[in-house]
Amino acid sequence: MRHFENIIVGFGKAGKTLAASLANHGQEVLVIEKDSHMYGGTCINVACLPTKNLIINAQKGIEYSQALEIKNQMTAKLRNKNYHKVADLKTATVLTADAEFLDDQTIQVTDESGKEQLTADRIFINTGSTPIIPDIEGINTSNHVFASREMLDRQQLAKKLVVLGSGPIGLEFASMYAEFGSQVLVLSNGKQILAREEPEVAAMALDDLQADGIDFAFESQLTKVKDTEAGLQLTYQQAGQEHVVQADALLVATGRRPNIDDLHLERTTIELGDHSEILVDDQLKTNVDHIWALGDVNGGPQFTYISLDDFRIVNNQLLGDHSRTLANRTVYPHTTFLNPAISSIGLTEAQAKTQGLNYQIVTMPTAGVPKANVIGNPRGMYKVVLDQDTKEILGMTIYAEEAYETINLISLAMQQHVPATVLGDQIYAHPTMTEALNDLFANL
Ligand SMILES: Cc1cc2nc3c(=O)[nH]c(=O)nc-3n(C[C@H](O)[C@H](O)[C@H](O)COP(=O)(O)OP(=O)(O)OC[C@H]3O[C@@H](n4cnc5c(N)ncnc54)[C@H](O)[C@@H]3O)c2cc1C
Repeated sequence: MRHFENIIVGFGKAGKTLAASLANHGQEVLVIEKDSHMYGGTCINVACLPTKNLIINAQKGIEYSQALEIKNQMTAKLRNKNYHKVADLKTATVLTADAEFLDDQTIQVTDESGKEQLTADRIFINTGSTPIIPDIEGINTSNHVFASREMLDRQQLAKKLVVLGSGPIGLEFASMYAEFGSQVLVLSNGKQILAREEPEVAAMALDDLQADGIDFAFESQLTKVKDTEAGLQLTYQQAGQEHVVQADALLVATGRRPNIDDLHLERTTIELGDHSEILVDDQLKTNVDHIWALGDVNGGPQFTYISLDDFRIVNNQLLGDHSRTLANRTVYPHTTFLNPAISSIGLTEAQAKTQGLNYQIVTMPTAGVPKANVIGNPRGMYKVVLDQDTKEILGMTIYAEEAYETINLISLAMQQHVPATVLGDQIYAHPTMTEALNDLFANL
C-alpha cells in the first residue's frame, strides 16, 4: 500500500493552493481529482469564471454561440494552467481517480486501471458542493432540466428558459440569458428577490430585471415537469391557481449542498452536520486528528475566496505560526453579478436596528457618479449603515457598475476601522466608480 505525507481529495481552490504550498516546502503531496475536466475546481471550470465571462460577453452584445466558444477556450486554458501549477511541482502528483474512504486511515482510488489503497500522514477533503434538486414530479427524468454546470454547456440558446430559484445563481443566469435574447421566467417560492439585501436595493434590482424583459412568478411552487416534442411543459401553483407554461429548458438553481456523495464517510468516524457538511473546528480540522475539510464541503459560505481563506488557515496551522483560525474571518463581501452588480458587506439597516445600534443611514443614487455615465449604465444606488458616533462603516450595499471592486475597499476600511470620513476625504483617480465615495461620505 502506498503511503504519502499528504493526500488532498478534490482539486478545488483550497486544495490546489495547499498542494502548491506544501510541495514548495518540500513535502510530498498527492492530489486526487475524479474529473479530468475539473482540474482547478468548480470556480474556473463551471462556475465563477465561465459565468462572469458569459455575462460580460452577453452585455457586450456578443452572440451566444460565439460567447460559448470564447468561454470554452478560456476554461480550457485555465484548466491546463491549473493542472501544471500543481503537477509540475517536484514533490506533487495529480491522480485522476475517484476517491473513497475505507476507514479513517485508508483511501481507495478507482480509475480505468483499477483500484488502489492509499494512506497518508494527513488527509485534506476539498470536494466542494453539488446542486440540490428538489423532489418534483418528472424533474429527474426530463431531458430538458439542467443544473448550472450542464446549462453552461448547452449548444443551443434556449428560446424560452424557466429558472427555478431566485438566489444569486438563478438571477445571474436569468439576467445573462435575457441579455443573450432568451425569454426568461423566474419561479420563486419567496415574496421577493435577494431577501438578504437591503429591501430598497432588491426592489430597484427587480424593477431593472423586469425592464430587461424577465418575468417573475413569486410565491409559486413548481409541481410538475413533463417533456414534450417541442421541449417541456411546466406546471406551477400560484395564489391557489394552476399555471402551465411551455419552455425549452428548466434551470434548477435551488441551492447547493456539501458534496460528500462518493466519499463513503459512513465507513469513517468523521462527524457530519445536519446538512451533510463535514464538521470542523476553528482550525478546519475534523474530529479525526489527521483529517481536515476545506471549502464548500465544510458547510461554510460557498465562495471561492472563502475556500482560499480556508487554505490560509490550514497553511498557517501547518507551516506558519499557528495564529490563524476561523476567528480571524470577520467581514467579507459578496456579489450578485447582475446589470449592474450588487455587492454588499456587513450589516443591513434592519440588522443594525435589531441589534439596537446607534446608526446613521446614507444613500445616494448611482446616476450622479460620472463614471457610471461614461460607462452608460447609471442604474442603481448606494446605501451605507454607519456608526453614528465613530462614523465607522457597519454595512454597505452597492448597486452600481464595478460594485465588486469598490466593495473591496470598503471591506478593508471595515477591517482596519477606517472611518467613512477618511474615505470621503481621499483623492481618487477620475473618472472611477470609487470616487463615488467622495460624494457619499461628504456631509457626515
Ligand atoms: C454557477 C456558479 C457561480 C458561482 N459564482 C461564484 C462567484 O462569482 N464568486 C465566488 O466566489 N463563488 C462563486 N461560486 C461558488 C464557488 O464556485 C465555490 O464556492 C467554490 O468553487 C468551491 O470551491 P471548493 O474549494 O470548495 O471546491 P471545488 O472547486 O468545488 O472542487 C472540488 C473538486 O473535488 C472533486 N471531487 C469531488 N468528489 C471527489 C471524489 N470523491 N474524488 C475525487 N475528486 C472529487 C470535484 O470534481 C471538484 O473538482 C459559484 C458557484 C456556482 C455553481
